[in-house]
Amino acid sequence: MIRVTVWNEFKHERLHEEVRSVYPDGLHRAIAAGLEQEGDMSVRTATLPEPECGLTREVLDGTDVLIWWGHMAHEEVSDEAVERVYARVLDGMGLVVLHSGHFSKIFKKLMGTTCDLKWREANEKERIWVVDPAHPIAAGLPEYFELKPEEMYGEHFDVPAPDELVLVSWFEGGEVFRSGCTWKRGQGKIFYFRPGHETYPTYYHPLVRRVIANGVRWAAPSGAAKPVRGNRQPLEQLG
Ligand code: ZN
Repeated sequence: MIRVTVWNEFKHERLHEEVRSVYPDGLHRAIAAGLEQEGDMSVRTATLPEPECGLTREVLDGTDVLIWWGHMAHEEVSDEAVERVYARVLDGMGLVVLHSGHFSKIFKKLMGTTCDLKWREANEKERIWVVDPAHPIAAGLPEYFELKPEEMYGEHFDVPAPDELVLVSWFEGGEVFRSGCTWKRGQGKIFYFRPGHETYPTYYHPLVRRVIANGVRWAAPSGAAKPVRGNRQPLEQLG
């Protein structure tokens, strides 16, 4: 079983009726419910109001893949919690960053860039194209699928060139966006997936759930031994 923790800042749902009406138990519960149907994942949730931002050493040590949803409270995540997550990613924990998590402290730290982008909330159609059909994150997806309504995110997305680009979005207003990107940092694998504005029922969509579950499986630790670094004695006798 892959041990998944779905982390959510859990703020919009408590402050805004418009969001609570879509996600009455929180975005994290909707995302977790999709993963619980998969059968090969043990899923728990963690939220910002919990002790140590919900990201205690115990939680992180028991997590193979962490899913991140944040938006209005990025700055309320303590630097200590971010450092713990960062260390675990380098150590092999997978990280799936969703939607507005592009501006989270942890994603910006891992990318080393501003992670800024173009955006618009206009209830428009998003058409998501699979551009790497051999990639495991594309498993079970059609050539493209559509979400309506969604928020627009447009290029340029200021991230390092992804190791792999799996999904590209087109929006009704004309913009395009790299919606499904992967990177590796240390032993850890990172998947960014764009959709999921808090006022839209995106995380109930079966294909969105398929992408997130595929992303979790792809990001799960490889099981490779921890690399050894520093000064070493030779393995063979040197002539
Ligand atoms: Zn949004």
